[in-house]
Amino acid sequence: MSALFAVIGNPIEHSRSPLIHHTFAEDVGIALTYERIWAPVGGFTKAVQAFIERGGRGMNVTVPFKVDAFEFAHQHTARAQRAMAVNTLDFANPEKIVGDNTDGVGLIRDLVFHDVSLTGRQILILGAGGATRGVLAPLLAQKPAEILIANRSPERAYGLVEEFSAIRGETTLRGCPSTGIDAQPFDLIINATPASLSNNLPPLPANILGKQSVVYDMAYGAEPTVFARWGEQHGAQALDGLGMLVEQAAESFKRWHAVEPPTARIRALLREQIEQ
Ligand code: NDP
Repeated sequence: MSALFAVIGNPIEHSRSPLIHHTFAEDVGIALTYERIWAPVGGFTKAVQAFIERGGRGMNVTVPFKVDAFEFAHQHTARAQRAMAVNTLDFANPEKIVGDNTDGVGLIRDLVFHDVSLTGRQILILGAGGATRGVLAPLLAQKPAEILIANRSPERAYGLVEEFSAIRGETTLRGCPSTGIDAQPFDLIINATPASLSNNLPPLPANILGKQSVVYDMAYGAEPTVFARWGEQHGAQALDGLGMLVEQAAESFKRWHAVEPPTARIRALLREQIEQ
């Protein structure tokens, strides 16, 4: 019998994680079953326990359950602890369930894949939710000159700045309201809000992009997002979160199977599918 894995979320029907993990498994010659599990809000624990009873070996966790998963795990990796959110559960020992967070590494690997340099750069992050929390430490580890976090509710941005200031090193780490972004040029602007999913563009001042700038939307879709279009209109290179999705999955796969899967085939396959 092949090992059993799943992704849990609400909604979940459009998740591409089963395709990604089955492709990885095929590429490295591992047999596995990977399902989608829908759970009602408030029903996370019950659904996960039922999955473990069926022999579940590991699980990815998506919106809105990453904090529930953090609370459910008995142990956390350092990066999950810092993010206070879990996107990967490891049930190898059901008495000692480990929670990991691979989102940050996924973003960095995707940026590296696209040759986006981070060291010494000016970075603006829009949003101060779970995704920003998950990517902050790996971004700081790349030693950018500055990270400015802009959020609709500014206190959440200030809270993250305070929390992560101990590991900021030489990087200037600041927070501001989303309407208070400095009109200074940024090398990289990361949209870590779901605004694009409802076709909304967070407020952005003019002249914060140069010809070498990159805009990165964690969201993705068949068409370039409104944020990606805004970036391109201002001369920047625009990237979306499809590569991050693949790379965070690769890191989960590595945790469960102790082998790093190749990501090129699934990157191309997903891009093709999404644009159909
Ligand atoms: P959260 O709900 O934890 O946080 C959302 C953040 O965005 C909050 O700071 C919120 O502000 C802000 N926000 C929400 N709606 C708007 C809006 N319409 N305009 C401006 N700001 C808004 O979500 P996550 O951090 O978990 O996820 C953020 C996005 O990143 C989602 O689209 C998610 O799908 C994507 N993502 C993609 C991944 C990938 O692999 N590609 C991985 C992880 C996340 P406030 O604090 O004021 O409420």
